[in-house]
Parts: sequence; structure tokens; C-alpha cells
Amino acid sequence: MAELLSLEEAWEGIQARVSVLASEDVPLAEAAGRVLAEPALARVDLPPFASSAMDGFAVRASDTPGTLPVVSRIAAGTPASEPLRAGTAAGIATGGAVPEGADAVVPIEQAAERGDEVEIAESASTGAHIRLQGGDVRAGETVVGASVRLGPTHIGALGAAGVAELRCTRRPQVSLLATGSELRPPGELLAAGEIYESNRTMLAAALAPAGAVMNLLPVAADEEEAHREALRHGLDADVLVTSGGVSVGPLDLVRRIEAELGVEEVFWGVAVKPGKPLSFGVRGRTLVFGLPGNPVSSLVGALLFVRPALLALQGLAEPAPVLEWAEAATPLRRNAMRDEFVRARKQMTNGHLRLEPVRGQESHMIVRAASADALVHVPRGEGEIAAGEAVRYLTLA
Ligand code: AMP
Ligand code: MG
Repeated sequence: MAELLSLEEAWEGIQARVSVLASEDVPLAEAAGRVLAEPALARVDLPPFASSAMDGFAVRASDTPGTLPVVSRIAAGTPASEPLRAGTAAGIATGGAVPEGADAVVPIEQAAERGDEVEIAESASTGAHIRLQGGDVRAGETVVGASVRLGPTHIGALGAAGVAELRCTRRPQVSLLATGSELRPPGELLAAGEIYESNRTMLAAALAPAGAVMNLLPVAADEEEAHREALRHGLDADVLVTSGGVSVGPLDLVRRIEAELGVEEVFWGVAVKPGKPLSFGVRGRTLVFGLPGNPVSSLVGALLFVRPALLALQGLAEPAPVLEWAEAATPLRRNAMRDEFVRARKQMTNGHLRLEPVRGQESHMIVRAASADALVHVPRGEGEIAAGEAVRYLTLA
């Protein structure tokens, strides 16, 4: 294996090959998780009119305290009523349009209604409990900027501002290919020497939440023709992700057959554990990731590189993984050659978030990994990180 790239160099090499996908119109109800290709602008002022924040009485503040005749009732959804004459009050519901002339709403709890009159004991301050027209946003202003991935708050804001359709980047099409003659689908009986194929569904679960459309290809046996056929098909996607067959064995065919099919290799080998023999290349605009077959290595490679690449393809402003800080619960030995990602469990101890490595850190131990909820980043170097020292980690969702 040639010189190993650092994590940063590998990510830079990937990012430099990403061009943002084309955009399309998406109905608001389907836009959660999508990335905006252009800013979405408010269609209306929000609120569209001055409205009441409480159930109560619209008044002129200068008429309070006092006893006022209730001259009308304003429900939510009814058009603005007559202007409010001095010395009168109008019953008003939350969301009701505040009539012209009124400059305060007195909540029901602070008013005593008797017949057609309301007694207000305290003086109301001007503007009290009135939501100003355009107080949240003005028509034509930006509700959500370009390159933002839409979460529930964005979806709520866009709906409130009257945006029914959004210009989003297209979802990346991802082909997932597992290679290995030993692989059998779960549900079938294993013959001697076989193991269950678990990477395709695992990778789909890791990558679909990044907004990609996953296409699981049939498993390819470790034979040239099977690889040729499967890889040719997989290369039609925006992103091809393979698992297995990128190491140094004689039956590790992925890179060689990809080269034959016109894939230009950008790098092979990253100074990371697990996941070292990861390969990355391009053919035209297709990004081609070769993840190692060991399940934990495959997952780590997908989270560190493929997921961010999928977000970058969609134009997300900050696609790189976000690592957070916590304390190491135990000493962590550094690896001199490679950055390590240690599977760990989060635990709160005396108000401190601590990361406790799980037992069984070998890269085939996916069941051990399944008891972890964090990947602790142990930067390469000498010696060890002491218990209690701050470390960065990636949440395993
Ligand atoms: P490879 O990278 O092809 O040398 O595979 C490394 C190890 O991962 C071997 O023990 C394989 O049997 C195992 N492996 C490869 N692909 C898969 C897969 N799709 N699911 C589960 N294990 C796999
Ligand atoms: Mg293999």
C-alpha cells in the first residue's frame, strides 16, 4: 500500500471531486432532509396581520383601567372587524385580527366580564399581547438560506411563510455492492466457510439518512466477470459504494476491475483504524468508494467519508462530520501510525459526559460495536490519553 493519507487529506481529496447535483422542485411535505439549492423567500408577512397572542379583549391602552362595553367578538379566521372606537372593547381569540384603533389585548384572566361589559382593573401597556404584522419575517425576506438541510423547524417556518414548493438539490443515487464468495444473505442456511452478508443493509442504514436513494445490488462473487458485471452496473449511479475486495489479497479484485472500467483512483489507504484500505476514485461525475469488508471498518469508512460526500453532493454548506467533546473514561493508547476510532458508550457521571470503550475492538466485531453509541477519535501519536482528558467523538445514531 502506498503512503497512507491523513484523514484530512483523504477528505480534501474527496471534497475536491464533488460537484453539487442539479436541483428540482420539491413539495414542502416531502422536503424534510433535503438541501435547499436557493434561498426560500416568505410569500407573506408573518404574521400576515396584527393578531392577538391571547384570548382576551382588544382595547385602547389609554382606556384602561376601566369598565368598557364589549362591542364585538373577533374569532380567529374572521376578517378584520370595524375599527375599535375609543371607550369600547372587542372580545378577541388567540390569532384573531386586532382591529384598527386597538393597541393592546387584555387577557381573559385579567378581565372580569359581566353581561355586555368588561371590567379591567389594571392598566394595559401599549402593544401588550399583540403580535405585530411581519414581526417574524417580512414578505420577500429569506426564510431559509441556500445550502441548508431542512429539519422540522425549517419545514415549519416555510409552511408558515406560505412556501409550498422548494428548489432542492436532487437526492444522490447510491449503488451498494458487497463482494465476497463467502457471503450469504441472512435467512438462508450457511454452508461451510460461509458467513452472513451484513454490510449492504448496514451501509444503507448508515447512508439513507443522509438523503441518498439506495440501490442494493446483488452480491458479487470474487471472480473477475462477476465483478465486471456488477461494477459496470453500479457505476451508473452518482455514487458507487463497494464493500470488501480492496485489500492486498489475490482475490481482492475491486480496484483492478474498476480501473479496467475507467475509474480513476484518487487514493487508496487512509491512516485510520479501522478502515485503512479504503479506496476512492471517480469516473466522470460518479464517486467511487471502496470500503473494506470487515463490518466495523466498512461502517467507519461510510460515516467518515461517504456520508459527508453525499451531503456535499447535495450542496450542504458544512458536510464534514461534527465531532463533539467529552471525557475519556479510561486511558486510551494512541496508535503511532493511524488515527483510531474506538467504539464506546456514553455515560453521564457527576454531570460529565464520559466515554467508556466497549470490550471487543476488532474490526470484525460488529456485535460488540452495536453496544456502542460513540466513536471516540484517538489521534495518532505516542503514549496515551489519560482518563478524564477531553476527547472528541462522533455519535453513532
Ligand atoms: P475483505 O475486505 O473482502 O478482505 O473482507 C474482510 C473481512 O470482512 C472478511 O472476513 C470478509 O468475510 C468480511 N466481509 C466482507 N464483506 C462482508 C459483508 N458484506 N458482510 C459481512 N462481512 C463481510
Ligand atoms: Mg473479500
